[in-house]
Amino acid sequence: MSRADRLVALLEDRSLDWLLVTNLVNVRYLTGFTGTNGACLVSPDERLFFTDFRYVERARAEVRKFERVEGGRDVLGDLAARLRGRCGFDDAHLSVRAHKRLAEKAAEGVELVPAGGLVERLRSQKEEAELRAMRAAAQIADAVYEEVRDQGLTGRTEREVARSMVRRMEDLGAEGPSFPPIVAAGAQGALPHAEPRDAEIPAGTLVVIDAGARVDGYCSDCTRTFATGPLDDGAVEVYDLVLRAQQEALAAARAGAERREVDGVARRIIDAAGHGERFGHGLGHGVGLEIHEDPRLTRVAEGDLSEGNTVTIEPGVYLPGSFGVRIEDLVAITADGPEVLTAFPKELVTVE
Ligand code: ZN
Ligand code: ZN
Repeated sequence: MSRADRLVALLEDRSLDWLLVTNLVNVRYLTGFTGTNGACLVSPDERLFFTDFRYVERARAEVRKFERVEGGRDVLGDLAARLRGRCGFDDAHLSVRAHKRLAEKAAEGVELVPAGGLVERLRSQKEEAELRAMRAAAQIADAVYEEVRDQGLTGRTEREVARSMVRRMEDLGAEGPSFPPIVAAGAQGALPHAEPRDAEIPAGTLVVIDAGARVDGYCSDCTRTFATGPLDDGAVEVYDLVLRAQQEALAAARAGAERREVDGVARRIIDAAGHGERFGHGLGHGVGLEIHEDPRLTRVAEGDLSEGNTVTIEPGVYLPGSFGVRIEDLVAITADGPEVLTAFPKELVTVE
């Protein structure tokens, strides 16, 4: 069944005649279109793709099973004229202004119904071709981590390490990084979203490195925490704690497991060691065409993991002013359990 066919099944559940898809990642997922101005309309009988003259050539090459419609730059105005009946729109992405224009241009009797999240639901169940791209992206990131290990960290700046990782990804065939890499030494590592600095990485500290590559539009995501020489016992203890939490949560990440419970497995281990307050983010997130997508693994997440989900398992402990430790794998949930896509070793690696 095509992606659009699976989407139609979801429309029927909601008694929708049409779904208007305006989020470009969702448009790409359904149609293959990679330009920056496009939208599509899906109904049980029709699949229409709208773009403007700048993208007609690209659409001809990329967009297959949709009828292509060339309009002005305001594609919303063009497709509003086609709407009939109950039409779902993406309330998480469509601006209030765009919604108003749509309502003005639509024919009498068209009902605009908030229906965000339907395409995202399809996207959370990966097909084999998507998994192939993600495996390739994860393998490139593995090779980049190997290079970090071989080249060492001490005396290099965080920013230079980050730049050389991006270059290496591109050399290995990635479209680029899936997000700007994080390289955070010492106390900087206690900031989960630290930006690389021009500061030299000292010896004898922990360095959190979080990076991923992009292949065929699909992201990978991996974090490792390296030591740049001997550490004090406290740091080693925290590393071992995070590693144990990561491994236990990974083993629990199976089809049918409650998502909040998988988060809970890691959180209870970190809590029991007295660092519960220092694990301030969710255990993981879905990854695909976007680096953060459904499903989420948090303490309030609803629902279960299912086959085809691709999620990160990334507990962390952050001690302000001292250091941080995060260990992150990307896994695909299969019928046989979690398939770990990120293969770089997780035991504490010392790079001088
Ligand atoms: Zn990450
Ligand atoms: Zn992540």
